[in-house]
Amino acid sequence: MKVITKELTITSRRRREVINITSHIESAVRESGIRNGIALVFLPHATAGLFANEDEPRIRRDYEGLFERLVPASGNYEHNKIDNNADAHLLASLFKQFYVLPVINGELVRGTWQEVFLADFDGPRTRNVVVVIIGE
Ligand code: ZN
Repeated sequence: MKVITKELTITSRRRREVINITSHIESAVRESGIRNGIALVFLPHATAGLFANEDEPRIRRDYEGLFERLVPASGNYEHNKIDNNADAHLLASLFKQFYVLPVINGELVRGTWQEVFLADFDGPRTRNVVVVIIGE
């Protein structure tokens, strides 16, 4: 069994932004040489999240509308007395900070309309994504 780790660097340009990182994960899987196993995608951040869904311009705007309905950017948040990003922490806690995807015959297994997104809730900034591919 092999374990290959790759760190991705993803930069957001807006405060709240969804970024499709699927091709980066697929490249990491290909470069690993692992044919069968799993890919763990881990986001070591407290104000960003991961989700998997369709990538289409209108639904991207719908995601942003959903974030605002779930946790409005401006609100009377306690954490904002010491920082200015309570909404980003709260949104991140509603999403995942990791995904595990199967790798079969050298390919990442995902649904046709299932792209992996990094959702930055406190950009613009540079985010790290750790990809660990385990298998043989
Ligand atoms: Zn904070």
